[in-house]
Amino acid sequence: MAVIGFIGLGIMGAPMARHLIRAGHDVRGFDVNADAVAGLAADGGTGATSSADAVRDAEVVITMLPADQHVEAVILGPGGVLMHARPGTLLIDMSTVSPQTSRAVAAAGRERGLRVLDAPVSGGETGAVEGVLSIMVGGEKDDFEAARPVLEALGRTIVHVGEHGAGQVVKAANQLVVAGIIALNAEALVLMEAAGVDPEPGLTVLNGGLAGSTVLTRKMSAFLKRDYTPGFRIDLHHKDMGIVLRAAEAAGVGLPLAGQVSQLVAAARAAGMGSRDHSALLEVIERLNGRTKENAHA
Ligand code: NAD
Repeated sequence: MAVIGFIGLGIMGAPMARHLIRAGHDVRGFDVNADAVAGLAADGGTGATSSADAVRDAEVVITMLPADQHVEAVILGPGGVLMHARPGTLLIDMSTVSPQTSRAVAAAGRERGLRVLDAPVSGGETGAVEGVLSIMVGGEKDDFEAARPVLEALGRTIVHVGEHGAGQVVKAANQLVVAGIIALNAEALVLMEAAGVDPEPGLTVLNGGLAGSTVLTRKMSAFLKRDYTPGFRIDLHHKDMGIVLRAAEAAGVGLPLAGQVSQLVAAARAAGMGSRDHSALLEVIERLNGRTKENAHA
């Protein structure tokens, strides 16, 4: 069992840290939100007073932060992980950031004698709470094998997908697919309602056939109730679509549907939906058509 410094105890990080405690690890958690730290301590972890405090004696450090700038500040910045973690420490960044940031963190970590992996996840809050995340890992194979017992407390599908940054490329592909499927299901729902068909049995039968998906299974009830409590915030998906478009540019390919889907997510954010769940793409499609929940059955 390991001493694990865990930084970022938000929607995803909090339940993940608790799984590590339950697996018997000594988890020292830090978040700028003091309530999140107190919550972890109440559940058997140790509340740390700073990132430095969380990682000082750790054998493994896990970061689960919102975006590139937070990862750069917490890991590379003054008073950050690289300055305070011991050489040999396994640093697993599970945040979704750009492949370039993951490669920069890996290079800086190597200079300090740390072993670094990018290990973004898919499965949402439910996957984190149930400990069944899909984890896509970039970095050295030996480091992946060393990290595997820790990751097994968090996920069910844990795959080494390549060198540093490869985990983030796979995660970008994942986010493209998820946003695209949400948008298509939203259009399917609007089509059914506008045509006078009850979408509840409609979506149910879609989900039993080739059009079925994990996304639809998880989002159907939220769609039908127009309950956009996050979950996964539009702001974060907007960040991820930016990563998708930049990754496509770096790879020298054009992804036309990625362009359309990213603009839908951007429009949701511009319309003030940044803090809502990404299932709120339904409201964007409804507004495009002058439809609201109230007149949906008109
Ligand atoms: P979140 O905003 O709920 O949590 C992030 C946490 O980081 C917050 O508690 C915040 O206070 C903390 N934080 C920010 N700056 C910090 C700092 N300098 N030091 C310490 N703590 C700091 O976000 P989340 O939904 O948990 O997502 C985390 C990451 O996981 C993101 O990159 C996201 O894209 C990715 N992700 C989220 C989901 C999801 O469904 N929510 C699914 C897969 C991947």
